[in-house]
Amino acid sequence: MRRPLRRYFQTRKEVERYFGGKTITCLLCGGRYGRLSFHLAAKHDMTTDEYKDRFGLPWSRGLISALSLANSGWDSKRRAKASRLARKTKFFKFAHSNGERRKLAPFLRDEALKHLGAHAVGFGRKFESRVWTLFRRGLTDAAIAEMLDVNTMTVNRRTKQWRKSRSRKPSRR
Ligand SMILES: [Zn+2]
Repeated sequence: MRRPLRRYFQTRKEVERYFGGKTITCLLCGGRYGRLSFHLAAKHDMTTDEYKDRFGLPWSRGLISALSLANSGWDSKRRAKASRLARKTKFFKFAHSNGERRKLAPFLRDEALKHLGAHAVGFGRKFESRVWTLFRRGLTDAAIAEMLDVNTMTVNRRTKQWRKSRSRKPSRR
């Protein structure tokens, strides 16, 4: 495979700029497309998840330019329905096939860090909700512990319960 044209996206602004145009530039070959997913599969034998992981793009955002998204005429209801469907069919198969939680896009991790402060200690409700926020974003216990400057076990005691209740009700995800 050819060398990528760039490395990780560092800021939200960069990401917005990347998605914001008429087309999206393929960072592997420089081609421009309204949607990248088909091109990635056909030309680079790569999934959108692999692509996002490689360049630090957020999981939540489809590889589609702002213009194509606007022209697709999908209101949020239809999109929610489609994403529910997508989840049912392949999301679980691929996203968790290696048993690992997804890594957070680096720029989002930086933002979360800035937002929470490096020493967000204190173990009350507020602490709990910080852990919850990071957990929901897909961080590992170790990563959360590092960000909040606490012991991993402190984090694990909470996430353990959340993981349990999640596996009991898989439809909630
Ligand atoms: Zn390409």
